[in-house]
Amino acid sequence: MHKQIAERLTAWHAKSLRELPWRRNPAGARDVYAVWVSEVMAQQTRLSVVVDYFNRWIVRFPTVERLASADQQEVLKLWEGLGYYSRARNLHRAAQIVMTEFGGQVPRTRHELLMLPGIGEYTAGAILSLSFGLPEPALDGNAKRVISRLWDIDERIELPATERQLWSLSRKTVEASSQPGAVNEGLMELGALLCRRRNPLCVECPLRSCCLARKRGVQNERPVRSPGKRTPHVEVAAAVIWEGVRGGSRLLISKRPEKGLLGGLWSFPNGARDEADKDLLTSLERAVRQELGVAITVGEQVTTIEHAFTHFRMTLAAFHARIHTGMPQALGVADWCWTTLEMIDRFPCPVPDRKIIGALRDQK
Ligand code: SF4
Repeated sequence: MHKQIAERLTAWHAKSLRELPWRRNPAGARDVYAVWVSEVMAQQTRLSVVVDYFNRWIVRFPTVERLASADQQEVLKLWEGLGYYSRARNLHRAAQIVMTEFGGQVPRTRHELLMLPGIGEYTAGAILSLSFGLPEPALDGNAKRVISRLWDIDERIELPATERQLWSLSRKTVEASSQPGAVNEGLMELGALLCRRRNPLCVECPLRSCCLARKRGVQNERPVRSPGKRTPHVEVAAAVIWEGVRGGSRLLISKRPEKGLLGGLWSFPNGARDEADKDLLTSLERAVRQELGVAITVGEQVTTIEHAFTHFRMTLAAFHARIHTGMPQALGVADWCWTTLEMIDRFPCPVPDRKIIGALRDQK
């Protein structure tokens, strides 16, 4: 059965694969740096979005060496808008490790790849099979869905035992093929194009005669998942602190600590609503005092932005503000500076802060 699945996937892959800039060479013989960058960018991100980022990245950082020697702020700026910024920081750090510990060569074993920041089981498998043609499995969410249907796995997909079973089945399939890269990529592509989360297109599927879930008519019930949790909602206020009068020449931005959400990016000082505070503005004033050591006077609202992160939704209200006591210091932030609306684009900023900047420009 594994050999049959592998052969059908390979044939389907040869005629159905979508063209993308990092797929110019056959699966199994691709440039390892291009595979690595594209796989990291594509995590949690649509491929249509990744293409432009990838093209810009390869022009600016065409090799591991060029990436390793880049400034982190430049790396984050190029990643701006793609989200999950730890991916960019890890890619940068991993490139530096490849230069110092591996003589500039991306390692060719799963064990060594897993030692690099930001490379997990999936990315390691993708690099090994798509670049080096090695029979190593690579399971993303799409491929897991296909396998759980092919073998009609009725245990919850989040369980470690199910995860192990999926990887084991996938390993047997790639090991049954002389083109493991095409098998891995075929599984993922099939999951994206045909074996969709809802209403899979089984009539067009090259694996329909081997698919147990389809034979039993339960494909829409696989994979089995735990009931979803409600996404938490957080209220946040941000201060657009002007030097001198509101709308004056310069405004204050702060650099977020390296570790944590949006680390290394620049944003308007902000604070999430705290139950202990009487309202959102009190939370903002407290956060600015803790992070920068200044007391602010909050003025009119600039805008309100809704934004969804992976694990929570955020409503962000931005307000004009000014300092009434104290000199800014980097107490709870990595750095701070005064900048202007003209110069602010030089800094890597999260998407919600970009929207605040857009609103400020509209109001000028
Ligand atoms: S037959 Fe249907 S459920 Fe089975 S792998 Fe193909 S698309 Fe998915």
